[in-house]
Amino acid sequence: MAWFKKARKPLATSAAAQPSRVPEGLMVKCPECGQVIYNKDLEKNLAVCPKCAYHFRIGATERLAGLFDDGRWTEHFPDLTSNDPLKFTDTKPYLDRLRSSIKSTGLKDAVIIATGALDGLDVVIAAMEYSFIGGSMGVVVGEKITRAIEIAVDRRQPMIIISCSGGARMMEGALSLMQMAKVSAALARLDRAGLPYISVLTDPTTGGVTASFAMLGDLNIAEPKALIGFAGPRVIEQTIRQKLPEGFQRSEFLVDHGMIDLVVDRREMKSTIARVLRFMRARPTVVDAPALVVAGAGEPERQN
Ligand SMILES: [Zn+2]
Repeated sequence: MAWFKKARKPLATSAAAQPSRVPEGLMVKCPECGQVIYNKDLEKNLAVCPKCAYHFRIGATERLAGLFDDGRWTEHFPDLTSNDPLKFTDTKPYLDRLRSSIKSTGLKDAVIIATGALDGLDVVIAAMEYSFIGGSMGVVVGEKITRAIEIAVDRRQPMIIISCSGGARMMEGALSLMQMAKVSAALARLDRAGLPYISVLTDPTTGGVTASFAMLGDLNIAEPKALIGFAGPRVIEQTIRQKLPEGFQRSEFLVDHGMIDLVVDRREMKSTIARVLRFMRARPTVVDAPALVVAGAGEPERQN
């Protein structure tokens, strides 16, 4: 017998205010500066406004295409799906939500695990997809990212996680919260193996994702003006009864206050990650690079 019964229906959640991807059509207007941009030009510019550098939200596939050499990668574990362990229903059954997200995104859950070369370096990348139930982290996201880290440890490759998430998936309750500890433990193993982990935080990265793996990078890199936080600004204002400062919870504010390490334009992201990984002594794919330079030829000998 249930101890209590919910007499009222749960509140309907409002749809996200911002579009989760570049809107379809021939042209699009930049919400920041009002510039009208051809969609094709926007695509070529990695969905960054050429005039004011406003970063449109993009999906996981577009991100991977922008990072991997020649836009080529191998996907892992694409078929893992949630089986609705709690038989959860809010305004509609969780299984229906899953089905419609699978249909609209073509993915089975909110993360893509991919391996391939980034500027010649073999890497493992987990990219989160916001349009799949708000990029929320449930058992499948946790399991897939954990397995991705295990691949990185086995192959001795760097791990990159691109976060874009509203946090834990409430339809999986405590099971989704356990993923925070699970992924963090896997990252600890990666750390003990002496392998680098780069966390890329994109708009938005909030809740349980911020509270676990998104903030655990050897380097935490954010895209400009991304919303990054645990609770949202409205909740914080109501709790502490104070007005929050301008730009609170945005990348630039966070880098000034030491919460993250770098703010990097999406167009510079690939080269920045490659430079950082080389600095951390990742092994290059091409071993027959001109490592040995004849003495006196000018360039110092490079060790990788
Ligand atoms: Zn603009």
